[in-house]
Amino acid sequence: MPSVRGSCLCGAVEFEVTGTPGGATHCHCSRCRKTRGTGHATNLRVATEELRFLRGEELLTKFHPPDAKYYEHWFCSRCGSTMPRFDSGRGFAIVPMGAFDDDPGARPSRHIHVASKAAWDTIYDDLLQFEAGPPTL
Ligand SMILES: [Zn+2]
Ligand SMILES: [Zn+2]
Repeated sequence: MPSVRGSCLCGAVEFEVTGTPGGATHCHCSRCRKTRGTGHATNLRVATEELRFLRGEELLTKFHPPDAKYYEHWFCSRCGSTMPRFDSGRGFAIVPMGAFDDDPGARPSRHIHVASKAAWDTIYDDLLQFEAGPPTL
C-alpha cells in the first residue's frame, strides 16, 4: 500500500505504514480488552520495516505485562492513545487500526482469542473465528 498515516489523539505521536499489510484481526484477548477499554481490539500486522514513527516516538510509554511472552502495550504518555508497536520477538509490527487517519485498505478477516471474549460482547459478522490465536501468524 502507499504511505498511510496515523496518529494519537493529541497528535504528538505520528506514524506511517507502507508496503503490503498482513492480516487485519479482531482480537478478543483480555489484554487487548483492558488496554483498549473495548470489547476487542482491531489490529493490523505489518512487516517491521513497513512501520515508521514520524514524530513523538520519545513520548511512547511501553508496558510489558510480567506474564506475557510477546504482548506489549505502547501508548502516548500525553493522551493515552494506543500506538503501533514493534514485536521484535515475532519479527513484525502491530498497528491498532483505530489510530489510522487514512484508510489502510486492509479489512479484518478474522476474530482471534474468541474464548476470552467478554460475556456482553456479541459477534454479528461471519468472519472466521479462532478460540485462541490463529493457526499461523
Ligand atoms: Zn498523544
Ligand atoms: Zn489481543
